[in-house]
Amino acid sequence: MNYFSTRNHRNKVSAPEAIVQGIASDGGLFVPSEFPQLGDLDHLMKMGYQELAAYILGLYFGELGEEVIRNAVDRAYDDKFIEGVVPVHAKGEVAFLELFHGRTCAFKDMALSVLPHLLLASLKALSIKKEVIILVATSGDTGKAALEGFLDVDGVHIAVYYPHGGVSEVQRLQMATTGGENTFVCAIRGNFDDAQTGVKKIFADEDLKQRLADEGYLLSSANSINIGRLVPQIVYYVYGYLQLVQMGKIKLGESVNVVVPTGNFGNVLSAYYAQRMGLPIERLIVASNDNRVLTDFFDSGEYDGNRTLLLTSSPSMDILISSNLERLLFHISDGDTSKVRDAMSQLQRDRKYEWSGLVDQPFSSYAASEDEVSEWIANVYEQDGYVMDPHTAVAYTCYQKYVKDTKDKKVTMIAATASPFKFSKKVLFSIDKHVPVEEFESIESLAEVMAVEIPEGLSKLRQLEERHKKICGVNDMEAVLTDRFRRDR
Ligand SMILES: *Cc1c(COP(=O)(O)O)cnc(C)c1O
Repeated sequence: MNYFSTRNHRNKVSAPEAIVQGIASDGGLFVPSEFPQLGDLDHLMKMGYQELAAYILGLYFGELGEEVIRNAVDRAYDDKFIEGVVPVHAKGEVAFLELFHGRTCAFKDMALSVLPHLLLASLKALSIKKEVIILVATSGDTGKAALEGFLDVDGVHIAVYYPHGGVSEVQRLQMATTGGENTFVCAIRGNFDDAQTGVKKIFADEDLKQRLADEGYLLSSANSINIGRLVPQIVYYVYGYLQLVQMGKIKLGESVNVVVPTGNFGNVLSAYYAQRMGLPIERLIVASNDNRVLTDFFDSGEYDGNRTLLLTSSPSMDILISSNLERLLFHISDGDTSKVRDAMSQLQRDRKYEWSGLVDQPFSSYAASEDEVSEWIANVYEQDGYVMDPHTAVAYTCYQKYVKDTKDKKVTMIAATASPFKFSKKVLFSIDKHVPVEEFESIESLAEVMAVEIPEGLSKLRQLEERHKKICGVNDMEAVLTDRFRRDR
């Protein structure tokens, strides 16, 4: 399997090169040269999560070797996750795929647990001897999931920048208390866009890269445009489908719909890949919060990022430029790289572009307001005793809108992307309970309401020492990094 850039067919690389490079040199994203087929689904039925993951990763990254992949998967999906890895909570036509049972209680764990192992294997396959520095700009969830994923991985360092005062208290504590000798966290005096711009600047600085290379370091990225993050996310859609067959909710071969709460378009794109690989998915429902740039795009064909970013109770979806959409444009235009290139240069110039040819695609899109999110958290809690986090509730709200519009009662998988404990205040507020000011009291209150234990990753935060207290200016991000990674330090 080869990979090439969404902006140029001739920019072709192998799987390990695509993983190490992260983004193509022309600014495009790496896409697989074809969609491998799952084949007869019957033969997947007996597989556990790990076995299925090894099978699917093998279809894309086979070059790394069967044993290497199996080993990566076994180390990723071990007792960091609960038994079964992705529990499926099914009721009536709806099935929640619970993707938040990893260390950081959000779905980013699914891919970021395995990416470090894929990266190391790729470096080895390419005989690259340098130590790697993974740079991450985060609005909260990615930072901690990457820190945990790369924690104490030999030969890899991880540096995370987040906006000072711009992440939730739980997210801040999760990052600040990270252990390990290879982790580095710095708050910046700016917003998420500043952090992202600063990181991009570092990547573009050839001088800096050379200086780091002289010291034996190579820069790499763990954000969601890396193909090594996309592929592991295909696994749970296939797994969820097979679980539904096992539960007797659907017959093997029967089609289902999927709803995904969306920001950077990575998670829903993985569901689309699953469909193209032969998983019987009928409609892919793209769920937006008040930042409805994607919903407007699917409605009108115009992508328009010229609007004010709204801060919502689903912060991991507060995004205006949805990077992975570029891959979808490539696939639905049958690989028309010049059309993709044009659209992307318009996006860079004007923050907007027009796209024709969306109508025949399997996507529907809806947006959920803050009030609707609260309303559906309350409804589902009252009717079923099931508690959704605000991101999952965005998806559920959009599902309700879709059903109302179409009367389509097909069995539907909803990607449940975060633990409600991560957003306890919004949840308590929604179900009309007292909302304590103090974060941990609020988490404890929710535990009582739900009558379950607080996930370990969150309960232990209270006792952990805050190790990472660095704050820097937007213009000092590079200096802080070179200082940390000077050999004679
Ligand atoms: C990142 C994230 C999303 C959005 O996923 P994308 O792949 O960026 O579309 C949704 N929910 C949660 C909890 C997240 O952390």
